[in-house]
Amino acid sequence: MFCDEVLDQLEAIAAGDVTPDGRIAHHLATCRDCAGALADAQQVEAALAKRVAPPTPAQMTARVLTRVRRQRWRAEQYLDLGFNVTIGAVLAVIAGSVWLLLNRTGLAVVGNGVVSLFSAGVTTIAARVGPSLPLYAGAGALLAGALAVWWWAEHASASNWR
Ligand SMILES: [Zn+2]
Repeated sequence: MFCDEVLDQLEAIAAGDVTPDGRIAHHLATCRDCAGALADAQQVEAALAKRVAPPTPAQMTARVLTRVRRQRWRAEQYLDLGFNVTIGAVLAVIAGSVWLLLNRTGLAVVGNGVVSLFSAGVTTIAARVGPSLPLYAGAGALLAGALAVWWWAEHASASNWR
């Protein structure tokens, strides 16, 4: 029986996990070093057992959950605001594009109805629309860009929010 063998089990013995059998008990009774080491280990064990973990404050779980919910709600509010601003800007651009088309090019005639379209004559329409084609192209591009931003906002919202 060597001291090493006893010392290996010393912590378990001190903790009460292992009951020293005959050989080890005999060694502990006869070896001062091992007996002293066991006494030290038992003191440490007792000190640790006396330490009481501070109790969890009452309502802690509820408070933490409330805080988490509040933070999440705030984040969603910011996202909502950003989304609404983006949509508002997109709608403004679309409205502006339509307004440009209708008012700058004289195409409001179309808006007034098919009758006025025919009465004005196809040639007249063509003559009025022809020079404005670059403007149509610009407005169309603007509209496409706005729709792209809108699509992007919808897409981002779908992937980030839910
Ligand atoms: Zn020993």
